[in-house]
Amino acid sequence: MLKDSSCGELRRADAGRTVRLAGWVHRRRDHGGLVFIDLRDSTGIVQLVFSPDQASVMDTAHRLRPEWVIAVAGPVSERSAETVNPNMDTGEVEVFPASCEVLNTSLTPPFFINEPAEVDEYLRLKYRYLDLRRPEVARMIRLRHDVVRFIREFLSSRRFMEIETPTLIKSTPEGARDFLVPSRLQPGHFFALPQSPQIMKELLMVAGFERYFQIARCYRDEDFRANRVAEHTQLDLEMSFVDEDDVMGLVEELYTEIAREFGQGELAATPFPRLDYYDCIERYGIDRPDLRYGLEFADISEPLRGTGFKVFAGALESGGQVKAICVPGQAEMTRRDLDELTEVAKGGGAKGLAWIGILQDELRSPIAKFLSEVEVQGIRSATGAGVGDLLLIVADTPGVVADSLHLVRDDLGDRLKLKDPAVLSFAWVTGFPLLEWRPEEGRWDAAHNPFSSYRPEDEPLLDTDPGKVIARQYDLTLNGTEVGGGSIRINTREAQEKVLALMGYTPADMEERFGVLLEALEYGAPPMGGVGAGIERLLMGLSGTSNIRDVIAFPKTSAGSDPLMGSPSPVDPEQLAELGLELGPKARAAIAAASEQENEPATGATE
Ligand code: ASP
Repeated sequence: MLKDSSCGELRRADAGRTVRLAGWVHRRRDHGGLVFIDLRDSTGIVQLVFSPDQASVMDTAHRLRPEWVIAVAGPVSERSAETVNPNMDTGEVEVFPASCEVLNTSLTPPFFINEPAEVDEYLRLKYRYLDLRRPEVARMIRLRHDVVRFIREFLSSRRFMEIETPTLIKSTPEGARDFLVPSRLQPGHFFALPQSPQIMKELLMVAGFERYFQIARCYRDEDFRANRVAEHTQLDLEMSFVDEDDVMGLVEELYTEIAREFGQGELAATPFPRLDYYDCIERYGIDRPDLRYGLEFADISEPLRGTGFKVFAGALESGGQVKAICVPGQAEMTRRDLDELTEVAKGGGAKGLAWIGILQDELRSPIAKFLSEVEVQGIRSATGAGVGDLLLIVADTPGVVADSLHLVRDDLGDRLKLKDPAVLSFAWVTGFPLLEWRPEEGRWDAAHNPFSSYRPEDEPLLDTDPGKVIARQYDLTLNGTEVGGGSIRINTREAQEKVLALMGYTPADMEERFGVLLEALEYGAPPMGGVGAGIERLLMGLSGTSNIRDVIAFPKTSAGSDPLMGSPSPVDPEQLAELGLELGPKARAAIAAASEQENEPATGATE
């Protein structure tokens, strides 16, 4: 080893020891006489002081540049009181190298590594190996390791077995498109990358393992949205002989411990609140509400029935509803904020956002003149609005009201700074419908995944009113994002076929797509349930970052490409031929367009 000590670990107690260190030149201050180098390795940073007392190393010291790789040896010395740096873990000591060897030089990096500067994301990803040198970036990858190790130890100590399932498989649907991998040995045949290990983990329960987990890579080919990535990692687990409370209880215990150990914020509530799906939609318009703040919806349809105000009357007469958010103390909110909130509401489909500010002696509102005193009293008592409060109101179909008021509530959370970054607010949501109607396809689809079971008492509804069947599904949310979901599974062939049939599968399709599972369910499948919980989303919540790429060592851009390795990329025609594949006109045109773009001279470079 070129080193016997680690930069970040040196402390006052090491003073007097001679240490050998190796790492990167993080920062250099050349004072002519003395040269100060901050030396960085994977554990942190320590200050080296090259002094003319050690004449033999001074020449080298003057030559050093940021990011050169060096090895030094010398005594650790306690800093004098006035030079102690309380901002550094190693701020009480410094090292006086008696020898210094340059192990490698470095080009000047394309961005500062020794300052937490804003750097263009494309550049960061293209030079991710340099970006990862930045201590604040590396810290997230360390956090990821620590959390995953904690999960492994926690579950192993509870008799879970970590079992790897294959990534070249046949499709396992989770509602996204599959990534396909062509087979060379069987031309014309394809593997799919798993959207989750769902079928495999159920087979492991049939196999008798009883408690399985995996830190599993899952691939979902979706259109890119902020914080969606094509490949994510999830804590995937499955248990036999359990009900909902067993699985939720175990996950809750694990996540409570993780939050206490690694979370930047305080846990808002334990046990985690449990919300009913329909109740959630009523109160927050969404099934993953941010519970760090209130601003729940109040239904004000009743006091407004028969109103002369056309906008509200029209919505109510056509079967819609009128709902309000009461914002405490905001009666005097600026017109500008109100106009912006109106635009936000329109983003959810609303035609507008009505507002009423309740002042001491009057109402501040463009719609007050259309409302009777009784109606205003009715609205106030339904919302609990008092003097000084602001009411934000949407009248429309229940779907539009939910979507628009949810966006308004979410925006208010940011605008009024209600999303406390120092709070971790977990909640369970249960009571989801099993199936959702797809009008354009004329069939039911699984609201979550097709293997979720349903409440036994709802069984007859499968024949009469499938939309009313409640799934034995539970989702875990954290500060307004879904961080996990799971269910008790269907464990008989008969029930599984019935649900698949509702989803429009013919017996032949079922056999083709799910034949293995259906057959396995006939060989003594135990009652089982489990969870899939996103590691990246959990880490985002724990660390407070809003960018999913911060918690992935080698992420792709938000458009799904990888500037570091240059993927995805075209492949050699020979490689395609080996696979028995040929590109069609659409693919050829896309390649031609991309290469034309690459060859275009940069703007300004033409004459
Ligand atoms: N397979 C589900 C998913 O990946 C999780 C589960 O139900 O266990 O979302």
